[in-house]
Amino acid sequence: MLVCMEYFTLNGAQVSRIGLGTWAIGGSEWGAVSEVDAIATCLAIFDHGINLIDTAPIYGFGRSEELIGKAMRQHGRREDFYIATKAGLEWNDRGVFSNSDPARLRQEFEDSLRRLGTDYADLYQIHWPDTTLPVERAAEVLRELYDAGRIRAVGVSNFSINHVRKALEVSPLPIVTNQVEFHPLLNQRELLEYCHSRGVIITAYSPLGRGELLRDARITKIADKYGKTPAQVLLRWALQKGMIVIPKASSEPHLRDNLGALGWELDEEDMATIEAMNENKRIIDPDFAEWNLPYEQIA
Ligand code: NAP
Repeated sequence: MLVCMEYFTLNGAQVSRIGLGTWAIGGSEWGAVSEVDAIATCLAIFDHGINLIDTAPIYGFGRSEELIGKAMRQHGRREDFYIATKAGLEWNDRGVFSNSDPARLRQEFEDSLRRLGTDYADLYQIHWPDTTLPVERAAEVLRELYDAGRIRAVGVSNFSINHVRKALEVSPLPIVTNQVEFHPLLNQRELLEYCHSRGVIITAYSPLGRGELLRDARITKIADKYGKTPAQVLLRWALQKGMIVIPKASSEPHLRDNLGALGWELDEEDMATIEAMNENKRIIDPDFAEWNLPYEQIA
């Protein structure tokens, strides 16, 4: 299947609007997928015009970054990949918590680069807001890394409107993306509008509603109308709303199927039908108060 990837330019770099989400790589959630298959999926992205791979230290507790590092070594050309990783989540025996303490961020960065086997990250994202520390402290670390050429762009993740507003006020660098859960069952309209009005692209994680939406009768009906799959409809909806999407695709067939979100358009009526699905569903307050809880209580 020949598809034409859509790209955004983030701080001068071309980034595919469909990326590979690698939360489950190396972790139990990826089931029985072997290391060989995980690396093969990371390398298959180039057959489809994808260059964005999203990862984080917490994914498989370092394993996701290690496997991506292996894939990059097998491929041979680091510059072909756009690697988005993260910092600011600490894990210990009690669970997983936000921690953007500068010393920890510096250590996390060195650990990530070692696991990835590279000397820079294309995009470095604060994984979760740490409301116990002024965001200025994290911004200083990111500035140091950026000035040293070790990160090429800065992003955030799970930031509410108020968190983004504050971060934009204090950050000496542009914030290019805010990675949040985004699919039709959530009402994130205000967040999307605010971020896009400030030049911050939304990267949608769990864009397939963690798989739940793939069986929704309303999505299936729209998919049948266009001769598409439910995954393609959900991704198309997010792409038409101006986002980058990072569906989890643990196998090449899913990766290929997701590419079928490109090269066609949902009409206005169907966009509106999907948009209306969040009514009476989880309406999240723009301040996302629940995101201030330790990660484990939310995920
Ligand atoms: P998701 O992408 O909405 O859904 C994943 C589910 O959909 C899996 O069961 C997957 O099956 C299935 N799937 C994927 N493509 C499909 C297709 N074409 N046809 C049918 N089924 C398909 O949910 P997610 O895994 O929660 O999120 C994706 C990524 O978002 C993660 O990998 C991670 O990188 C990122 N994320 C970020 C955060 C954060 O805090 N920043 C939090 C959560 C997730 P298979 O497993 O068989 O492929």
